Amino acid sequence: MATVTPDDIRSARERIAGKVERTPTVLSQSLSERFGVPVHLKLEHRQTTGSFKLRGASNAVASLSAREKTRGVVAASTGNHGRALAHAAKLEGMRAVICMSRLVPQNKLDEIRRLGAEVRIVGNSQDDAQQEVERLVAEEGLVMLPPFDHPAIIAGQGTLGLEMIEQVPDAGLVLVQLSGGGLASGIAAAVKGVSPETKVIGVSMSRGAAMKASLDAGHPVPVEELPTLADSLGGGIGLDNRLTFAMCRDLLDDVILLSEDEIAAGVCHAYAQEREIVEGAGAVGIAALLAGKIRANGPVVVLLSGRNIDMNAHRRIVCGAAIGERAA
Ligand SMILES: *Cc1c(COP(=O)(O)O)cnc(C)c1O
Repeated sequence: MATVTPDDIRSARERIAGKVERTPTVLSQSLSERFGVPVHLKLEHRQTTGSFKLRGASNAVASLSAREKTRGVVAASTGNHGRALAHAAKLEGMRAVICMSRLVPQNKLDEIRRLGAEVRIVGNSQDDAQQEVERLVAEEGLVMLPPFDHPAIIAGQGTLGLEMIEQVPDAGLVLVQLSGGGLASGIAAAVKGVSPETKVIGVSMSRGAAMKASLDAGHPVPVEELPTLADSLGGGIGLDNRLTFAMCRDLLDDVILLSEDEIAAGVCHAYAQEREIVEGAGAVGIAALLAGKIRANGPVVVLLSGRNIDMNAHRRIVCGAAIGERAA
């Protein structure tokens, strides 16, 4: 069976050294006092481009052959993967094309352009944008790099797991965000490769948790996409999923789901207590602890995965306004 090994992740780390930050891990006083065990926060939201996605994108871009590099890369993501890919390609001196629908807000478009990528605007949906990606692959020979179900992407995200265990060698439990599962697969493979006793738990929102529904069904299933504060965790896992479904099934110890109110409480805590600005997805590990959904009897490492949130939306959450609005 195809999978990503701890050796693949160590190679990825060498490949991306100097291209991504080694982010700090800090002890949270407030969460440690509250739970009676040391709770460490891995501050990956401070990564260049504002999320861990740069690790996978940098590794995937650096793994391309010389011929592929001259052709350039393409993706349909307007979120953190799109930003990361634009940045990684620019660093490598390569062409990057990000396809998006007409409905994508101007600020997201400007941000991707600012990072040096070409933007193609097509149609009125993510599906239309994906069709344009496939056309560019077929007609212009661009290389598609998907956001999670790709061995080099998973290995790149896994470099976070190596850092976590180096920074907290006695970690008993690691909490990671779970959407398409590239992040959780990579981290779990890395952590368990070094420290097999350490548990790894995935955290998603209740609204449209595709990997959880798929794990329960025993195979990839589609889910309805619903608006959520953890917008970076939206989307399916792909019905033809090749890697992340099996890796999450085999490596994760549990999956926890959270309500919108619980996610908002995580964002508030990060801001008010930890003085960190994180997006909804970035705060779900903290949120799972605050919601009382995690039992730990040893040191915990909680990943803060991203900070790309509209600051007006952030202000509404930390002032309490967004909670009732979204939970309705
Ligand atoms: C993409 C993303 C995730 C989820 O990663 P997957 O590999 O899709 O599971 C979590 N947090 C943030 C901030 C992200 O951008």
